Amino acid sequence: MAMASLNRRVAFHRVLFAGLLSFAALMVTAFATFQYMREREFKADELNIRLQAYNTRILDNLTEGDTVISRISKPMPDLRISIIDTDGQMIFDNSLDSLPKASHLDREEVREAMTSGQGYDVRRHSSETGLQYFYSATRGDGVIVRSAVPYSTSLHQLLAPDFTFLWITFLIAAAVCTLGYFATRNLGRNVSRLNEFARKAERGERIYDTDAFPHNELGDISNHIVRLYSRLQQALADRDREHKDAMKQQEDKNRIKRQLTNNINHELKTPVAAMGLCLETLLYHPGLPEEKRREFLRRCMEHNARLQNLLEDVASLTRIEDGAHSIEKAPLDLCRVIEDVCVEFEPAAGHAGIAIINKVKGEIPFEGNRELLESVFRNLFSNAVKYSNGTRVTISAMKDREHTVITFVDDGDGIAPEHLVHIFERFYRVDKGRSRASGGTGLGLAIVKNALLWHGASITVYPEQPHGLRFTICFPTESQV
Ligand code: ADP
Repeated sequence: MAMASLNRRVAFHRVLFAGLLSFAALMVTAFATFQYMREREFKADELNIRLQAYNTRILDNLTEGDTVISRISKPMPDLRISIIDTDGQMIFDNSLDSLPKASHLDREEVREAMTSGQGYDVRRHSSETGLQYFYSATRGDGVIVRSAVPYSTSLHQLLAPDFTFLWITFLIAAAVCTLGYFATRNLGRNVSRLNEFARKAERGERIYDTDAFPHNELGDISNHIVRLYSRLQQALADRDREHKDAMKQQEDKNRIKRQLTNNINHELKTPVAAMGLCLETLLYHPGLPEEKRREFLRRCMEHNARLQNLLEDVASLTRIEDGAHSIEKAPLDLCRVIEDVCVEFEPAAGHAGIAIINKVKGEIPFEGNRELLESVFRNLFSNAVKYSNGTRVTISAMKDREHTVITFVDDGDGIAPEHLVHIFERFYRVDKGRSRASGGTGLGLAIVKNALLWHGASITVYPEQPHGLRFTICFPTESQV
C-alpha cells in the first residue's frame, strides 16, 4: 500500500516544472493585459491627437461661421462636429436637424475640456443620434468644439491594439518554459539519484559505486555525501575486520595457551614420577647400599633440575606473552650484551671443545630489555654447546640504515630440513632423548623468538655450508638510540 502511494507520488521535477509553468502563465497574462491596455490607450491617444488638431483648426477659424466646417477637410469621413457653449448648451451640430436642449456639461469629454482644455471619451452611446462615438473635445474662447467619430469597422481597426507584442511574449515564455523544463529535469534527476542513494543507505546496503552526479552545486553536495558515506562504510568494514582479527588472535592465543598447558602437564609427569619412584625406593628400602642410595639421590636432583629449568622457561615465556607491558626498555649496548654472554659461556664452550669467535666490536646502541636479550644469546650459546658437536661458534654484526643484523653460526652437525622449520615451536625437540639428557625443555628457541619479537626483531635459521647452523637476527634501527 505504502509502495503504491510512493510510486503514485509525482516526481519532484514535475512539481517544480508545474510551479514554473504556472508562474510563467501568470506573468504572461499580467504582462499581456497590461500591454493590451497600454496599446488601446495609445491608439485612443493617437486618434484624439488627430481630432484635437482638427478641433483647434476649427476654433482658430470660427469667426468665419459654420462654413469653416465644410471648408476644413475632415481627418476622417462621417465626422460629427458639435459646438457647445461654456454653459453646456449645444449651439451647432452638423448631424442633427434640431439641437438638443439638455446641458452637455456632464459629458466626460466636455467636463475634461472645461477643466483642462481638452478631453476625450472612447466609446459612448449618443442619445441624440442613437449611435456610438469616439468623442474628442477642445475648449476655445467661450466655446467647445467637439468632433465625434462613429464606431464603424474602420474605427474598430484603427483602435485595435497591435498583437505582435503578444506573440513575442508567448514565444519568450515558451523558450523560458523549455529551458525551465530541462533545468528542472536535470535537478529532478539529481534529487531522484540522491533519494535512491539515501534509501539504499537507510537499508544499510553497501554502496560501492554510484553514477557520477552532474557538475553543479547540488551534484557536488551529493558527491560529498556519497564520499562521506563510503568513508563511513570503509571505517565500519575496517572496524569489523579489526574486530575479527582481534578475535582470531585471541582464539589463537587461547589455543596456544591450552597447548602449552597440555605440554607442561606432559613434561611435568616424567620427572615428577621419576622423583617419586626414587624417593619411594629410598624410603621403603633403608638397607640399600650407600652407593645405590647416592645414585637415587643424584637422579632425584637431576629430575629436580629439569623441573626447575622447565618452570623457569615457562615463567620466561609467560612473562613475555602475558606481561609484555610490564617489561621495561632501557638504552643499552648490544655489543656489551653479546660480549658478556660470550665471556659467560667461555668455560662451557671450552669444555665442549668449541671456540667462541666474537667479531661484534665497537658499540651498537639499542633500546631494549637487557635480561631478555641476554636470554636470547644464552639460549643460542647453550644450544651450540649442547647439540652442535662442532668446533667453532662465530658471532658477527652488520649494520645498514634500517637494520642491525647479528649472525650466529656454528660448524656442527646442523639440523635436517624437515626439522629446521619447526625448531622455534614450543616443546619441539629434534632428538628428544638427547635434549632431555642435557636438561633441555624444548622451550629455548621459542623463548628466543618471542623475546626478539617483543623487541620488534626477527630470527631466521638456515643450514650453514658445508655443515652447521646459521641464525640471523634482524634488529630494527628505529629501536636503536
Ligand atoms: P631445548 O630447550 O630442548 O634445547 P630448543 O628450543 O632450544 O630446545 O631447541 C630445539 C631443538 O633444536 C633442540 O632439541 C635441538 O635438537 C635443536 N638445536 C638447537 N640448536 C641447535 C644447534 N646449534 N645445533 C643442532 N641442533 C640444535
